[in-house]
Amino acid sequence: MSSAIRLSGLIILLAALLAPADLRAQQTRPHSMLVLDQSDRRGPFYYQVFVGLRDAVSAHGHAPTTVYTESLDLNRFGGEAYQEDFRRFLEAKYRNRPIGVVVTIGAAALELALRWRPQLWPDTPIVFSLVEEADFKRLQPPAYVTGGIVNLKLKDAVTAARAVVPELKTVVLVGADWERQVLFRNWNDQAAAGIPGLEIIGRPMPEIVERVAALPDHSAIIYTGLYSDGKGDYYPPSDALSFLAAKANRPIVVAAETFLEPGGIGGFVIVPSLIGAEAAGRALRILDGETPESLPPSVIDVVKPIFNWRQMQHWNVSEASLPKGSEVHFREPSFLEKYRWRAVALAMALLVQTALIAFLLHERHMRRSAEVEARSRLSELAHINRQATAGELSSSIAHELNQPLGSILTNAESAELILASPTPDLQEVREIISDIKRDDLRASEVIRRMRSLLKRAPFEKKEIDLNQTMREAFDFLKLQASTRNVAIYLQTSPQTLRVKGDPVQLQQVILNLVVNSMDAMAKMPYGRTIIGRTEVNGDASAVISICDSGPGIPQDRLNDIFDPFFTTKEQGMGIGLSIARTIVLAHSGQLWAENQSGGGAVFHLSLPLAA
Ligand code: ADP
Repeated sequence: MSSAIRLSGLIILLAALLAPADLRAQQTRPHSMLVLDQSDRRGPFYYQVFVGLRDAVSAHGHAPTTVYTESLDLNRFGGEAYQEDFRRFLEAKYRNRPIGVVVTIGAAALELALRWRPQLWPDTPIVFSLVEEADFKRLQPPAYVTGGIVNLKLKDAVTAARAVVPELKTVVLVGADWERQVLFRNWNDQAAAGIPGLEIIGRPMPEIVERVAALPDHSAIIYTGLYSDGKGDYYPPSDALSFLAAKANRPIVVAAETFLEPGGIGGFVIVPSLIGAEAAGRALRILDGETPESLPPSVIDVVKPIFNWRQMQHWNVSEASLPKGSEVHFREPSFLEKYRWRAVALAMALLVQTALIAFLLHERHMRRSAEVEARSRLSELAHINRQATAGELSSSIAHELNQPLGSILTNAESAELILASPTPDLQEVREIISDIKRDDLRASEVIRRMRSLLKRAPFEKKEIDLNQTMREAFDFLKLQASTRNVAIYLQTSPQTLRVKGDPVQLQQVILNLVVNSMDAMAKMPYGRTIIGRTEVNGDASAVISICDSGPGIPQDRLNDIFDPFFTTKEQGMGIGLSIARTIVLAHSGQLWAENQSGGGAVFHLSLPLAA
């Protein structure tokens, strides 16, 4: 070994010897923790103390720390023999497990740890937790002990009671014997000292349940903790509280966070997880090298004003009356909070639906107005078309009028002559007058038809006989046909054809079709024939056909001819068929054209029969 190496080894040894005591301890102290819990740790409060401790240890980044736990369960097991057995059990169990720091939960656990230390862990520091001030003073722990002292004040509980009960006059303290209390032992003295303006009814309290069910107005219950049912059976204090809360006729103020859920309305409550976390913090610092002396015991702040929302609802306590900075737990979400997304989705769906309905209503309104508009345009166009047709027919109409007027004149002149004779044949005169009357009726019938054709009337449907409509139209056309040298025939169905329609408009369709046929045959030297037919098609519709012996329609034009302004005529407007088809469609019918096998065109018009 070289002298240089020997020298450096000596320096390291010297440095180690000269280092402060806590640094030396750091080098030798195992990273392990034994937690001695005075309870059985199944109750919520002690469990939360342990959870706070465990979480703080896991969150500690440095070296991993082993945590051993032992529950003393001193509420149910006591006496010297039990304690001695437990000590020996610990001695045997941890013989080969070095402990870096002992952490106690509760004053009784600290007391035992202090007693057992010389035999079990002679050099190990102790960190206590859950020790209230009076116990700390009584135990006077030596320098190797540190920890957080808890100080709960009855005054704070009364402040909380005043917040939840307006004009508080009486406070009933409910709990086990003071000696059994871990945290509230000194409340006895505080109660004895009295609180101005307040009657404090302390224990002993026989028939507790009957009493808390019949408390006077302006009173509150302050619960510290019951551990037995009075018959010797152990009760976890939170179970005793829920039993009490079910009977009590006044709100129960509590001083531990874990008493909220079983029925406490809240108050300045001790938060157990904070106690565990605080103790873990001290223990970890010791394991990391600090001495207990450098971390002297101190009163720790582990009390917070926390209230139970459900109980507040039950006792009608508003949030505004709570002490400043209070937290409210167990708040039930409002309907909107609970079903937020569903509510949003529902609202959206409603919105979309409303928008859709509004849109459809608007659409319907627009369609209605468009339909009304279209109808009036149709009537307008149809009127123009009828005027045109009437113009075409005017010469024959004039002729048709001339005939009765001429014979009326002739008949009138004959009557004058007969009456001028000395013996007038009155019988003959009577016959002549009757002829005049007949001719006059014929003339006025022509005028009526003419007027009805030229009438500017709104589209109006009524039940009509299609055969009758057809007959009238053909009568009207007869003369025109004869002047144009067209033979025109009508074959109506034997049964009446009742349809719902506008007779003027339907007549116009027939006129258009027949005049078109006449036009188509105009250049034929002879054999101009038009046959009109009416028949039923099944039970549902009536069909009108107009056949002619003209040249027919080019096969590829059979549909185009119904387009507006399609015409092959020099003077044509090309609107006749398009108007005819629009009129038929407005009657829920159909109009189409075909070519006949023997030549000539045929137009079919089908209309639904009236029910
Ligand atoms: P327009 O009579 O003013 O031409 P229409 O719409 O009534 O307008 O007719 C359109 C076209 O249909 C006519 O120009 C003609 O070519 C054709 N057409 C109509 N009816 C017949 C028919 N019976 N035979 C042959 N072609 C026809």
